[in-house]
Amino acid sequence: MKMKNITVIGAGTMGNGIAHVLAQNNFNVKLVDISNDALENALKNISHNLDRMLAKKKISAEDKINTLNNITTYTNLNKAVNGVDLVIEAATENINLKLKIFKELDEICEKNTLLATNTSSISITKIASVTNRPDKVIGIHFMNPVPVMRLIEVIRGYLTTDEVTQKVMQMSNKLGKIAVEVNDYPGFVANRILMPMINESIETLSQGVAGVEEIDTVMILGMAHPMGPLHLADFIGLDVC
Ligand code: NAD
Repeated sequence: MKMKNITVIGAGTMGNGIAHVLAQNNFNVKLVDISNDALENALKNISHNLDRMLAKKKISAEDKINTLNNITTYTNLNKAVNGVDLVIEAATENINLKLKIFKELDEICEKNTLLATNTSSISITKIASVTNRPDKVIGIHFMNPVPVMRLIEVIRGYLTTDEVTQKVMQMSNKLGKIAVEVNDYPGFVANRILMPMINESIETLSQGVAGVEEIDTVMILGMAHPMGPLHLADFIGLDVC
């Protein structure tokens, strides 16, 4: 099972970060979105983030050029999946949209192509069930911002094989990330634990137990969290939470 050519579907917050990290680690990336503006913004964003890394001497000018050269953009899904080893779907979090995309991917991708989703909350098994290759469907849950955060939650669907899981774990390590294998339950691990904590911090504020600064400071200094839960909720976006 080769792993060199990867399609990323969706060029929003997560898609552009995923494309950046893959391209910087020498994968050939085909980035596809229905919106031309999203693709243009993604390339600008990646270039800007590479400039920041260059200024901090984390990468060279040549690394920046190579990274950008490793990314090709598309608005046509059919062309974007031609000859790829893996597709990572990072489109809008909407179950019907994802089911539609995976049904189409199953029809147009070569039979050995692995199909992954970056979903935060939708069942991998359910997504896999609309394809004829549920053994080759897996969750690859990157964290935001992708170039900075080291964790990747690798989520096995009910029928995902050991071989596919191992392949994805190896690819994650090649990105300099730490991959953790988890099973397909609502929220997986990260959001199953994080979202109740954020919810409870909002309840704590609403019941007048303490103010925003106080709640965040208790969690930063008392639990050694790098950021308070209310600040984190704003960072993620309350709509996304
Ligand atoms: P976003 O809204 O920033 O980007 C989604 C992109 O998908 C948009 O550019 C949109 O044009 C595109 N899109 C919509 N339909 C499409 C289609 N049919 N084909 C191709 N592109 C299409 O969303 P995001 O925050 O990047 O989230 C993407 C996925 O990543 C979601 O499943 C989300 O749950 C997950 N996720 C998000 C975060 C986060 O913090 N934002 C973290 C981890 C995982």
